Amino acid sequence: MPFAQEHTSSYYAATVNEVTDYPRLKEDLRVDVCIIGGGFTGVSAALALAERSYNVCVLEANRIGWGASGRNGGQMIGGVSGESQLLKKDPGLADLMWDMGWRGHDIIRERVEHYDIDCDLKHGYVDVAIKPRHLREFEAAEAKLTRRNYPYEHGMMSRQETSDALGTDVYIGALKNMGNGHLHPLNLVIGEAQAAVSLGAVIYEQSAALKIDHGDAARVSTAEGSVTADFVLIAGNAYQMVEKSLRSRFLPVRSFIIATEPLSDELLDVINPHDLAVCDPNFLLEYFRLSADKRLLFGNRFRYLGEDAAVIAANHRPRMLRTYPQLKDVGIDYAWGGTIAIPINRVPQLGRIAPNVLYSNAYSGHGVNVTHLAGEVIADAISGTMERFDVLSSMPSVRIPGVSMFGDTIVNLGVLWYGLKDKL
Ligand SMILES: Cc1cc2nc3c(=O)[nH]c(=O)nc-3n(C[C@H](O)[C@H](O)[C@H](O)COP(=O)(O)OP(=O)(O)OC[C@H]3O[C@@H](n4cnc5c(N)ncnc54)[C@H](O)[C@@H]3O)c2cc1C
Repeated sequence: MPFAQEHTSSYYAATVNEVTDYPRLKEDLRVDVCIIGGGFTGVSAALALAERSYNVCVLEANRIGWGASGRNGGQMIGGVSGESQLLKKDPGLADLMWDMGWRGHDIIRERVEHYDIDCDLKHGYVDVAIKPRHLREFEAAEAKLTRRNYPYEHGMMSRQETSDALGTDVYIGALKNMGNGHLHPLNLVIGEAQAAVSLGAVIYEQSAALKIDHGDAARVSTAEGSVTADFVLIAGNAYQMVEKSLRSRFLPVRSFIIATEPLSDELLDVINPHDLAVCDPNFLLEYFRLSADKRLLFGNRFRYLGEDAAVIAANHRPRMLRTYPQLKDVGIDYAWGGTIAIPINRVPQLGRIAPNVLYSNAYSGHGVNVTHLAGEVIADAISGTMERFDVLSSMPSVRIPGVSMFGDTIVNLGVLWYGLKDKL
């Protein structure tokens, strides 16, 4: 578990609005809620609780947004992963799951506006099809959007329309959804942390939670202090070590992103004139979008490549050029990776390890949206409203034996297997 690290050398860290410098915890605190982990889940829950006048403390081992939340593709995509599993169990949940699938977007939009968070939020997204079966899935999704009176513009795009919108011929069609979008994730989570602090929350960085002593009030210890709280939320996602039993419930899959140098207006007009976020439906998916300063941010889920930016860039550039040969003379300015927690059944992992110690982790690739839903659901549960927490925590998690000991080997085997499935 990395402790007291600075941000990875990403495009986001290089363009952050504020470099956070919250203190280390060096005292013994008493609060209502102690949150372990300062990513979207932890910060989003902290803000939702502070808005309800709870006395909240966030402990972050590194920096706010240091984990997946400050490194991701920034694609704000609707839906809760693993939803079909929950609906198979109880079809009566269809309305609630539909509402939950879009709730994170509303929370993000409301916060960006209410707290005036500068995070380059833009609307416009396409799911792109590589195979005919993808088109069939998108047509079903499109029919559902229509049936549900989805309020944002949406519709299928033909092969030609997709090629015109994206300047590439690798896709056979697409589903456009103008309610999804993209944003600068590190600036969002830092802005939300500032908002929580403005409402009385306290944040400690470089203050890893090392141990939880359970009781009517739980005590969370760090190297130099402690927090005693009526409730604890474990929100360390793929990076947490304080409760090891939670780590065997998902595959820690790596995903990597490269950011080009800013593109010329001529190139932008060809490759993405409508500034859409783009994602394919493979497990080893490719996803890309433009940054506010007009770089192409091109990401891919992949086997473990380490942290070396040069290695990541060398590996990903040919992938980007397969889609965009037009960028052959364009330089790569940033390359980085992060870890995504993917449960076998894809259902986000919410639950309790003790009556007053909750956890919320593992949203597969849908975390931007679902972490914001989860923050609100956790705040509800702590305030005594259980409906959504009970639904999301109802699915038994599947343990993956050996994943904490042989993590990278198991993940690489999993990646090989899913890569084969993608090709079918
Ligand atoms: C490269 C990449 C691309 C992605 N792209 C997208 C995308 O485009 N769209 C999308 O919706 N999702 C995407 N995701 C997934 C999304 O980023 C995550 O689901 C989401 O950020 C998870 O947020 P989190 O707060 O739960 O976890 P994290 O952001 O990982 O935060 C966990 C935090 O907890 C801290 N922590 C851990 N243990 C302790 C401890 N013991 N004490 C104190 N602090 C601790 C860590 O330091 C870390 O900062 C992507 C992920 C990656 C890695």
